[in-house]
Amino acid sequence: MPKKELIVKLAELAVKVGANVQKNQDVVIRTSTETKTLAREIAKQAYLAGAKHVHVQWSDEYISHETLLHASIEELQIVPEWIKNQYQHYVDLGACFISIASPIPGLNKDVDPVKSQKSGIAIQKAISFFREFLMGNKSQWTIVSEPNPVWAKQVFPDLDEEEAVEKLWLAILEASRVTENNDPIKEWQEHNKRLLAHNKILNNYNFKHLHFKNSLGTDLIVELVKNHVWAGGGEVAGNGTYFNPNIPTEENFTMPYKWGTRGRVVATKPLNYQGKLIDQFWLEFKDGQVVDYDAKVEKNALTNLLETDEGSKYIGEIALISHESPISNTNILFLNTLFDENASCHMALGRAYPMNVKNGLNTEIKELEKIGYNNSMVHSDFMFGSKDMEIVGLTYDGKEVKVFEKGNFVI
Ligand code: ZN
Ligand code: ZN
Repeated sequence: MPKKELIVKLAELAVKVGANVQKNQDVVIRTSTETKTLAREIAKQAYLAGAKHVHVQWSDEYISHETLLHASIEELQIVPEWIKNQYQHYVDLGACFISIASPIPGLNKDVDPVKSQKSGIAIQKAISFFREFLMGNKSQWTIVSEPNPVWAKQVFPDLDEEEAVEKLWLAILEASRVTENNDPIKEWQEHNKRLLAHNKILNNYNFKHLHFKNSLGTDLIVELVKNHVWAGGGEVAGNGTYFNPNIPTEENFTMPYKWGTRGRVVATKPLNYQGKLIDQFWLEFKDGQVVDYDAKVEKNALTNLLETDEGSKYIGEIALISHESPISNTNILFLNTLFDENASCHMALGRAYPMNVKNGLNTEIKELEKIGYNNSMVHSDFMFGSKDMEIVGLTYDGKEVKVFEKGNFVI
């Protein structure tokens, strides 16, 4: 365990910069039993920041795993009213949400993928109003992370458990810009400024499409939705509060035009989906849709992801991250999207973020769908950036602009 003061700094960062908890606001901490240390400190910091009431949603990955293994598929699809009511209650309170991620990669590899998929769909359907609340940034939300021994051992297989946990803690803290001698809150203000400057440059170009190419075989055109908005760094929630959805974050991202992706993309890092690590995979797109794909590892899980619903075969996010980024430079494969997606250009299969198109947050999802917003129950990011990635943007007046050269931003 790192020094207590570092954990306090991370908790304070989650509360003040991540969710930016307001005086008298309700706070919901969504955590697993693996992350009690950080959950307790966040609860304390939230109260110190003036929270009215800190609510906690606990989960336990191991019990969830047993349930998926042994409960019937019918049982797994029952979502009791009180669960929906709980989410509705938090929405009614205008609460903000702090999630603590601590994956256990590979835990569900012995689970029937159809069971994971059906139970996932059932809960997603039951609380779709909550998903829209959060994805529509109606209130503030953020995700931070704490290690667990199984995860740490997979990231650092050569170390013993205690050393691995310590090393993963330090990597998480460093990636989150928390060090012994710094003021993370001030550093995040500067970091946000840099991300916003890049959003501005990209928004000014207003590209029609981006063309990605590298030596691994990626040759892909991603059309961007008309009136798209590049985002990254802090956001303003519907309630007017500035917040940072992800700690860490390094990305500038926007909305693809649903039917405008074509060509092939080759992934450069594994994708952790429902506890399975899909690896060494590629996807072929035509008119926005995945028309062919393969994976050397866990192809079935990829099939399940793609077949979740109509929108899971289309992409909803395209994100640019320089290969030279603090997370990428750690050279650690975190086996978790929150970190790995910030080391590399990525895209997401599934739903888009309404904020990535002008007026998107004030427009009904049904209306957004007509202009090329992709809707889906899933949003699964996968990485395809590389040190030789070249990106060329095409403007509406036919100009080609180099956006990335040798893996890094050149604009
Ligand atoms: Zn992203
Ligand atoms: Zn994403």
